[in-house]
Amino acid sequence: MSAELIMLGTGSAFPRSSYNTCFVIRTPQFVWMTDAGGGNGIVGRLRETGTDVADVRHLFVTHTHTDHILGTVWVIRSVINLARWSGYEGRMTIYGNSDVISAIDTICRLTLLESHYNMIDKLIDFHNTDEEPELALPGARVSFFDCRSEGVRQTGFRMRLDTGMTIVCLGDESLTERNMAEATGADWLMCGAFCSYADREIFKPYEKHHFTVRDVAEVASGCGIKNLLLYHCEDSDPARREERYRAEAREYYAGNVFVPRDGDRIVIE
Ligand SMILES: [Zn+2]
Repeated sequence: MSAELIMLGTGSAFPRSSYNTCFVIRTPQFVWMTDAGGGNGIVGRLRETGTDVADVRHLFVTHTHTDHILGTVWVIRSVINLARWSGYEGRMTIYGNSDVISAIDTICRLTLLESHYNMIDKLIDFHNTDEEPELALPGARVSFFDCRSEGVRQTGFRMRLDTGMTIVCLGDESLTERNMAEATGADWLMCGAFCSYADREIFKPYEKHHFTVRDVAEVASGCGIKNLLLYHCEDSDPARREERYRAEAREYYAGNVFVPRDGDRIVIE
C-alpha cells in the first residue's frame, strides 16, 4: 500500500459548503491526522472517508482556533466511546504546542461528563511540541516548528518518510518569506491559500492574516517544492475553484498544484 492524503475537509474558518480544513496521512505504518475541524461534523467526515477512529493513533493540532481545535473534543469522545462500548487497545497521542494542549484540556473539562473526562488519562497521551520538537515514528521522522503566523501561535510539521519523501504542513498559514526555510525542498507542501489574488477584494484575505494563491505560488517557486497542495480556501464555487487556482498558480510556479475538495484522496508516492 502506498502513502495517501485523505482530505477530511478543505474549507476555511467559516465554510459554507465544505468542512473546515483537516486531513489524514495514511501510510502502511500509521494513520496521522492533522486538525479536526470545528465540531462534531468530524465524526461523519471520518466515517465517509473510511477512516476508523480506532486506527488514528496520532492527532496533531496546529493551533487553538475554533475551526481546528473543537473537532478534537469529538475525536476524544469517539475514543472514549470505543473504550466504553467496544474496547480500545493501546493509546492515542495528541500533539500540539502548549497553548493547544492547555485549550484541549480546558474544553474537555468544561464540556465532557466528568466520568468521561476522567477516562482521558487512561486513553490519550499529550505530546507538547514546544518541549519535544522531534518525533520518531515507525516509518517516519517528524519535526515540529513555529509557522511564524502574524495571528495566533501556530505549529507546523515536516515529516520525512523512510522512503525519503518529505511532507511539510503549515496548518492554515500560507507559505511566506517568514516560514519558507522550513518548507524548502519539500516533496509536498500543504498550506493555506484563502482565495485567488484576482478575488482579493471580494474575500479580503489580508484582513484575516491569510494570503492568496498567487502569494503562495510566488514564494513556492523559489523553494524547490515539487507538489503544492492548497487548502483552507473560500468555497463559494468549489466546482470551479481548482481550475481557477491552478491557472493562477501556474503563472508563478512550475511544480504540480493540487486544490482538493472534501473527501479527495491523493496518492503521494
Ligand atoms: Zn483556520
